[in-house]
Amino acid sequence: MKIRAQIPMVLNLDKCIGCHTCSITCKNVWTNREGVEYAWFNNVESKPGIGYPKDWENQERWKGGWHRRANGKIEPRLGSKWRILSKIFANPSLPEIDDFYEPYTFDYDWLQSAPELPAQPTARPRSLLTGEQLNKIEWSGNWEDMLGGEFEKRSADYNFAGVEKEIYGEFEKTFLMYLPRLCEHCLNPTCLAACPSGAIYKRDEDGIVLIDQEKCRGWRMCVSACPYKKIYYNWASGKSEKCIFCYPRIETGQPTVCSETCVGRIRYLGVVLYDADRVEEVASTPDPKDLYPQQLSMFLDPHDPAVQAQARKDGIPEAWIEAAMRSPVYKMAVEWKVAFPLHPEYRTLPMVWYVPPLSPIQSAAEAGKIAERDGMPDVRSLRIPLRYLANLLTAGDEAPIATGLERMLAMRSYMRGKRVHGIADESIAERVGLTGRTIDEMYRI
Ligand code: SF4
Ligand code: SF4
Repeated sequence: MKIRAQIPMVLNLDKCIGCHTCSITCKNVWTNREGVEYAWFNNVESKPGIGYPKDWENQERWKGGWHRRANGKIEPRLGSKWRILSKIFANPSLPEIDDFYEPYTFDYDWLQSAPELPAQPTARPRSLLTGEQLNKIEWSGNWEDMLGGEFEKRSADYNFAGVEKEIYGEFEKTFLMYLPRLCEHCLNPTCLAACPSGAIYKRDEDGIVLIDQEKCRGWRMCVSACPYKKIYYNWASGKSEKCIFCYPRIETGQPTVCSETCVGRIRYLGVVLYDADRVEEVASTPDPKDLYPQQLSMFLDPHDPAVQAQARKDGIPEAWIEAAMRSPVYKMAVEWKVAFPLHPEYRTLPMVWYVPPLSPIQSAAEAGKIAERDGMPDVRSLRIPLRYLANLLTAGDEAPIATGLERMLAMRSYMRGKRVHGIADESIAERVGLTGRTIDEMYRI
């Protein structure tokens, strides 16, 4: 066993309000310059929707992630033949500017020059493209928010992670959630495996994945190979760039910019210790539905003295072992099992995990608008289909998502009972396999 430390992130989607503050603050700090105008190291998607770049979840189209061969070995889906060919010809699987959307600015003159109107003048969005180019574009980030029933008609060719397209057309069944996304700083990154120049590396001390700008030759194989489409080509420098997990801040004990500025306080950082010798074995797990539990089993209990001794032997500093013991990420992912990886079936072992959203909110459950099962709201009758969340987070396995949602619901019932009556019914906690004390701790985090 070889122990390594990683700083993952957990995002509690139940609290995301879709304000995009995280994206804007990240952009101001890291991509507010020529060559990466279109790039968002952090973006927030409206789901169900086709995302940014559009249709990024369709790996048949983009050839991202790992493919498991018949002999049980894995290789980047963008196979070696394509990797060699693309040195000679254009890389065939690159998203283009239309897939990202052309950046727009605002017609600020209008603020000064508008004639007197009943309402305030508005700075109208103005595309940087004109004429025919502009006509081609019928999409931009978060367009799903605006389209309603039109959505189904205009998005017939895209992949929706298992949601029937007709659901969106029926107002009563419509649902919406936000999915903030950044580079997953994967344990088994395909971007790194696909780079012909050896420019991409995963830092030993904290697992952050970076691109050496001196070594990058602009092949852009990483752009194709990353299944999350979180690498951007800088047209001015001719190099690829990606989220750097704010490493200069992390190194000085500060959180990432997106975590610090998040309005909903949905982002959690913390150290986890894992068995680095198991990366290939876990990434090659035959059944994609087993990838989530297998990845979970790689995380080691930092309270175990044997794990601590091995971690010291493997050079993990004492402060990091202590941080792992306090880690909210470990608690949410491993102890309470309320956080899950995004699309584990891509086999990159992603390290940005999500607490799925409850919808509708607790008050609807308490008003009896949700069916009950065994005296508790039935998570299978929540508005966001369990199947949809399972296709996003557990390769289609609904059982762990149902348990996670039940625990979140139980936490709310328990804490509300406690605050209203001074004492909460312990049986609520017991029903979801937790104690009242654990639920208190969940609530405080
Ligand atoms: Fe690489 Fe990040 Fe993509 Fe993972 S999510 S493959 S680390 S760019
Ligand atoms: Fe969601 Fe926080 Fe980003 Fe706002 S700042 S969109 S609440 S993740």
